Amino acid sequence: MRLLLFGAPGVGKGTQAKLLSSKFNIPHISTGDILRQAVKDETELGKKAQEIMSKGDLVPDDIMIGIIKYRLSKSDCNTGFILDGFPRTTNQAVELDKLLNEMNISDVKLVNISADEEEIVKRLNNRRACKECAHIFTLAEIKSSNTCPDCQAKDSFYLRDDDKEEVIRKRLEVFRNSTEPVLNYYKKQGKVISVNGLGAIEEVNKELLKILGK
Ligand code: AMP
Repeated sequence: MRLLLFGAPGVGKGTQAKLLSSKFNIPHISTGDILRQAVKDETELGKKAQEIMSKGDLVPDDIMIGIIKYRLSKSDCNTGFILDGFPRTTNQAVELDKLLNEMNISDVKLVNISADEEEIVKRLNNRRACKECAHIFTLAEIKSSNTCPDCQAKDSFYLRDDDKEEVIRKRLEVFRNSTEPVLNYYKKQGKVISVNGLGAIEEVNKELLKILGK
């Protein structure tokens, strides 16, 4: 199975990607997580990405395409993958198509998760990142625990700069202007599956599995 999880920031792409990844035992590749890890590790990529991300802008296409090319070439992607947060521009989509063609892959589907903007603002304000592993969780996922479910770090949750309200509004604007056209690009190819992201995590997941025929 090869899926591209698509939708506005905060719509639940990461949460659904994690669930699908563990159910089908295929890697969850989040470009946001890769960039946040690079920021944490203070690599050259991280230094370039940090300011762009904290303002809610997009990291340049050539950098993102390079990251995806490298990641998809790893052997754990042979049986499938879930991309979360890529492609985010039509140019990224075109380049991804070229790459998948070279890899003889044609069974990709784009999963479009939709939700109302005000709901999104509320949700993003209600999620936390782990400062150790950089993974993000909803408050519902971490409940009252102070231990990261992924890396077991203690007291490591924080509200990301780009999950603060003014940056969220900017990210939504970037989504409307630069990312939404990607949907039409895949619609023209008949590769879009749509799901309403407004419900509870389990409901959205059930609906998604039904649409995927699983
Ligand atoms: P995310 O966690 O997917 O919301 O990504 C967080 C931030 O990382 C975004 O607001 C962008 O600044 C950057 N980013 C992630 N994926 C991409 C991408 N495919 N293209 C450009 N920038 C990206």
